[in-house]
Amino acid sequence: MKAKITLLPGDGIGPEVIGAAQEILNKIGEKFGHEFETESHHIGGIAIDETGVPLPDETLASCKKADAVLLGAVGGPKWDDPDAAVRPEQGLLGLRKALGLFANLRPVQPHPELMGASPLKESYLEGVDMLIFRELTGGVYFGEPREKRINKNGEEEAFDTMIYSESEVLRIAKLAFEIAGERRKKVTSVDKANVLESSRLWRKTVAKVAADYPDIELENLLVDAATMHLLSRPRDFDVMVTMNLFGDIITDESSMLTGSMGNMPSAALGEDLNSVGKPRGMYEPIHGSAPDIAGKGIANPVGMILSMAMMLRHSLGLNAEAETIEKAVDSVLNAGHRTGDIAKEGEKALGTAEMSEKIIEELL
Ligand code: NAD
Repeated sequence: MKAKITLLPGDGIGPEVIGAAQEILNKIGEKFGHEFETESHHIGGIAIDETGVPLPDETLASCKKADAVLLGAVGGPKWDDPDAAVRPEQGLLGLRKALGLFANLRPVQPHPELMGASPLKESYLEGVDMLIFRELTGGVYFGEPREKRINKNGEEEAFDTMIYSESEVLRIAKLAFEIAGERRKKVTSVDKANVLESSRLWRKTVAKVAADYPDIELENLLVDAATMHLLSRPRDFDVMVTMNLFGDIITDESSMLTGSMGNMPSAALGEDLNSVGKPRGMYEPIHGSAPDIAGKGIANPVGMILSMAMMLRHSLGLNAEAETIEKAVDSVLNAGHRTGDIAKEGEKALGTAEMSEKIIEELL
C-alpha cells in the first residue's frame, strides 16, 4: 500500500516521540512492503515562533492531502501568557475543526505489568479492554446561544446551550457500532436521558442505529451511573459512546485505570474518507508536551507509538501491522523494560531511543 502521512511534531517532547514513531513506521513499511510517504510540518508554539500563527496554511494543506496525521504535542511555558493574541492550542483546535474530526477514540487497556500504577485494585483491572468514543465537535462546548449577562434582579448570570442534531448523533453512533462489530460486539451509550432533552434525542437516535446492527448488544447508562460502573465493573465494557461533555470527564476518569499517561494513545476521526477509503484521522498520545523533561531524551515514546498503531488500523485498515506493533510493545513491557515515568524505584530507566530500539528489535 501507498499512503501519505503528515507528521506534526509540535513542541516539547513532541519531536522526540514523533521521531521514535517514525522509525517504527519505517520498519513496518519495510517488513510489510508498504510505502509510507511522510511530510513534517510545524504546529503550536514552534509554528508561532517560525510563522506567527499556530496553524500555518502549509501545515493545514498538507494535513488535508494526507491519509492520516500524527501529532506529538503542543504548548509550553514559553507561549503561556494568557494575554497573548495567539496560543499553541489554537493550532490543535483549528486543525480538529478544519478536518471535521468529530469522534475522539480512547482505548483503555491497563497493561498487566503496569497495573500497580493505577489507584484501582488489580482484581478490578484484569481483562479490561474498552474503547471510548467521545463526540468532539458538538454539544454544550459549541452550542449557541451562550451568554453572560445581568438578569432582571441585577445579578450576573450565564448560560450555555447543550444541543445535538440527529445527524451528529447518527454519525458517531454508526462509527461506534461499526468498530464494536470488529471487537466484542457490545456498545454502551452514556447520556442523561432522565433529565436532558438533548440526551433523549441522543438515546432515541442511538437506538435507531442499533436496529441496523442486530448482532451487537446495546446498553444505555446514565452518566452518573456510568462513572461508578467504570470503577466497579470496568471489564464489562467494550465500546462506550457518549457526548462531548460526558466524554471529556469519562475519558479522564478512564485514564486512571491505566495510571501511566505516557503509554496512552488516542485518535480523532473525521467523516471524510482518505485515498484508501477509510476515515481520515489525527492520532496523538494523550500526554502533553512535558516541558519539564523536553530535550533530555527520556520521554516515554509508547503513547505515540501506540497512536501510530491506531492510525494503521483505523485510517489505513492495516490490522496485522497495528497488532504487530502492539505485541512488540507488550513484549518489551513484559520483559521489564521501562522509561523513567513508569519505572519503579530501583528499576533501570531507559531513554526514548533505547526504549524504541527495544520495540524495533521485537518487530524484526
Ligand atoms: P503533560 O502531559 O505535558 O505532563 C504531565 C507530567 O507527565 C509531566 O511531569 C511530564 O513530564 C510527564 N509526562 C507526560 N508525558 C510523558 C512522557 N511521554 N514520558 C514521560 N513523562 C511524561 O501535561 P502538563 O504538564 O499539564 O502540560 C504541559 C504542556 O502541554 C502545556 O502547555 C499543556 O497545555 C500542553 N498539553 C498539550 C496537549 C496536546 O498537545 N494534546 C495535551 C495536554 C497538555
